Amino acid sequence: MSDRVYNFSPGPSMLPLAVLEKVGSEITNYQGSGMSVMEMSHRSKVYQTIFDDTKARFKKLMNVPDDYEVLFLQGGASTQFSSVPLNLIGRTGKADYALTGNFSTTAYKEAKKYGDIAVAASSADKNHSYIPTQEQLTVRPDASYFHYCANNTIYGTEWQYIPETGDVPLVCDMSSNICSRHVDISRFGVIYAGAQKNLAPAGVTIVIVKKALAGHELPFTPLMSSWKTQIDKDSMFNTPPCWCIYVLGEVLKWLEAQGGVEGMEKIKHGKAQMLYDVLDASRLFHCCATDSRSDMNVTFRSDDDELDKKFVAEATAAGFVNLKGHRIVGGMRASIYNAMPVEGVEKLCRFIEEFDRKA
Ligand SMILES: *Cc1c(COP(=O)(O)O)cnc(C)c1O
Repeated sequence: MSDRVYNFSPGPSMLPLAVLEKVGSEITNYQGSGMSVMEMSHRSKVYQTIFDDTKARFKKLMNVPDDYEVLFLQGGASTQFSSVPLNLIGRTGKADYALTGNFSTTAYKEAKKYGDIAVAASSADKNHSYIPTQEQLTVRPDASYFHYCANNTIYGTEWQYIPETGDVPLVCDMSSNICSRHVDISRFGVIYAGAQKNLAPAGVTIVIVKKALAGHELPFTPLMSSWKTQIDKDSMFNTPPCWCIYVLGEVLKWLEAQGGVEGMEKIKHGKAQMLYDVLDASRLFHCCATDSRSDMNVTFRSDDDELDKKFVAEATAAGFVNLKGHRIVGGMRASIYNAMPVEGVEKLCRFIEEFDRKA
């Protein structure tokens, strides 16, 4: 469709056009069922097939080992900010957090309600423009878990290594880079991600839990926040986000066609590198992140707020929308998740170069 724009929104974000067209074609009558997926009982055979297929595809794509469970939950990644301590902190009453941006700090504040929470490292001293090194992390050996956020959506930094924490389980918020790179799941205790950045419409949250870690929640844990409840009922204790899980399944099929996570890793890194190369060569703009630059959210700015405003306005008029940075960072942010076509980034690069020449 020619009237579609290049949407650089941080989330909810672009979905692959082929997926939108496919689900559009099935919207009133899913594969001869006579009804929309939106109208189906989650207990029906036809829906159960969609659910099982989506879960199996996800496990295969992400190489999820058998001793892990994949859950499709509601409540967004933010609900997991409390579910994580509720389910995990009971072991020692302690947990350690790396603060590298907005969401990890929110998760840390939430966890403080439930136990003794320490800061393992923080990049707040330089407005979260970098990721701490392994040497800068202090993890208490008796922490019940260590929590970090793999990609800082607002600041545009991304962990380029998996922290080494000995016997302390790793818990990771992968909301904004899940399925964009290969991940060795066996290194983690728990991974969670709201799907609306990289995988599906808003409404489904993916939680990958090492089964041995579930079932030890604090006694007052709400029924619906217990991972054990959800594992025992295969994410169907109550109505799951049926439609979102169906679209997720279609996005996963699309990802398979891109060469899976490994194929996508090359594509997305190429897109990001192209944009960083243009910004590094730019006269007016520079990147906000000083190291560990994110392949998903590229933050940049000039030294002049008015010029930034002019850039955003002209970009919008040219069909590159949602480039305004988050208010706590300022400048611009190009969110280039999996579904952003290569040509969208190429065209943005030409636009930046042209603006750079003219201004
Ligand atoms: C968007 C985002 C969140 C919040 O997700 P919700 O699903 O809206 O709760 C949490 N963490 C990260 C890294 C995000 O990008």
